[in-house]
Amino acid sequence: MAHETILIVEDDPKALELMTDLLTQEKYRILTAQDGPQALKLAKEAHPDLILMDVQLPGLNGLAVARQLKEDPATALIPIVAVTAMTLDRTEAEAMVRDCVGYIPKPVSPRSLIGLVPAFLQAGKRRQGG
Ligand code: MN
Repeated sequence: MAHETILIVEDDPKALELMTDLLTQEKYRILTAQDGPQALKLAKEAHPDLILMDVQLPGLNGLAVARQLKEDPATALIPIVAVTAMTLDRTEAEAMVRDCVGYIPKPVSPRSLIGLVPAFLQAGKRRQGG
């Protein structure tokens, strides 16, 4: 399969490069953003099949970006996966459950990334009924 488009939102250039390389090898089309405003713009323009969202972003954090994406009908159906190294507090955990289809812990292990992405893409397709 593959050739789906994945938007990776990640402010750490090394982590971004690692995920981009791994998923490009898996034949996905990759778009990248390093902050929230960039992510919102790209999601709207390109309508990716999946968004991998770093939670710890400068300025607007990843959960706030996810909320905005869910509130906009143009991007509300795009599945979002939170990527985080931190233990979320209760409010953050509730936001994640509401707005994201799942999460991937950091540091990202290549095996779990490559294993989980197809499952998250499938879940997103089912939700959109197609
Ligand atoms: Mn970060």
